[in-house]
This record gives sequence, structure tokens and C-alpha cells, in this order.
Amino acid sequence: MQKIVVGNWKMHGSQQMLHSFMQKLVPQAANLKHQAILCPQFIHIPDLLKLSADCNLKIGAQNCSDKPLGAFTGEVAAASLKDLGCSYVIVGHSERREYFAEMNATLSAKLTQVQAHGMLPIFCVGESAQDKKAGNSEQVVLEQLQALESADLTNLIIAYEPVWAIGTGSSATPELANAMHALIKDRFSMKIPVLYGGSVKPENIHRFFAEINIDGALVGGASLDATDFIALCS
Ligand code: PEP
Repeated sequence: MQKIVVGNWKMHGSQQMLHSFMQKLVPQAANLKHQAILCPQFIHIPDLLKLSADCNLKIGAQNCSDKPLGAFTGEVAAASLKDLGCSYVIVGHSERREYFAEMNATLSAKLTQVQAHGMLPIFCVGESAQDKKAGNSEQVVLEQLQALESADLTNLIIAYEPVWAIGTGSSATPELANAMHALIKDRFSMKIPVLYGGSVKPENIHRFFAEINIDGALVGGASLDATDFIALCS
């Protein structure tokens, strides 16, 4: 079954990296088994769109403003991302929550902006190591899902990313991720795709994709290497 593989490049990349990455990816794009989506820094989106024009790669942003177009210096509007040709926007990544203090009210406004402009939000949830230790994983994730209260659930992807597994090299077990995905899916009457994120690599992705409730992967580190990204999507 086709899954979704999202590469989150975070604050990485350069002109040279974009070109060498796409030189490897474009010839393989027609053979990829899964839907590939790349989310570079804002500034690299136009180049990546041009370089991927002839292949089935979708481009997303890592964030957007919670405000519509207007006098908000330094912000990037969902309307402008749509205008560029973006199809997806990551909302509520744990790094946004931790370093930029983004909470449910802001995230809910961002979801509204993304959906109002015809793009799909990839809405991230996940508990910290401290939450996990205290036995609060499920409660934390359910609270984070409250940001979706006024969202259009038919145009949405959720990513479960336990914070303790992001960038650590030590992923959740596929069984644990699958159980959390089941909890997330049970919370809604709609069928919403749920991706797993947290130290997914070419060596372990097949174990996640064998689980019934895992519809794809959100990948940080391993998505920066074209050979690894191709392997993840294959
Ligand atoms: C992420 O930041 O969304 C992520 C999953 O990172 P990594 O794959 O490097 O753990």
C-alpha cells in the first residue's frame, strides 16, 4: 500500500545541496513506491519547486504565520506559500512548540490559515521524555489534538512524533507507535492519515510500515541524504 514519506529539512540545505540532491532524486522519482514530500526552508521552496517540476514530488513548508496577509514583519503567510506552489505545511512540530512557545490557540489559527488556502496541514503531536516517564503520553497527545477542534478533518495529516525519539537515533518501537496511532485514529470519526516520526531511517522504516495504523513517516535527519530519502520512499 502506498504510504506518505515527508522529509523535514529543518534549517539545513544550500543551493549546492538542492542541486546535487535533485540530480539523484529526479531520475528515480517515477520508481518511488510512496508519495514523497519535501519541506525545505522557506527560502529554498521556489528552487525546489523548479527542480521538481517534472516529477511527482510534492513540496511543503515547515511553518507559516497564524495571521493572514498584513503588517507582521518577518512572518510568512499561508497565502504566499500557496501562491508559490506549496501543497503542505507542517504545523506544531515539537521544535516550534519548544523553542517558539507555540500552543494550541496559535496552532489552531495556523491550521485555519493553511486549510483556508487549500493546502494540507501536517499536524505534529507527541509527548516529551518527561511526559512519558510520568505516564502521561496519551493524555498529552489527546490535549494536543484539541487544536484540531475547528479544523477540516477531511483535509489533514497527523504526525505522531514522540519528542524523545526525534534526532536521538533511538526510535519508538513500531508496536508503541502503532498503539498511539490507534488511539489518535479512534479519537476521530474521519479516517485521518497518521505518520510516525522520530529517528526513522532506511534500516527501520519497513518495520513501521508493516504496522496497520502507520500511514507514513515524517523524517528529519535521514531525509537530507538523497540516497537515504530515495530508499525511504521505495
Ligand atoms: C523530525 O524532526 O520531525 C524528525 C522526525 O527528525 P529525525 O528523523 O531526525 O528524528
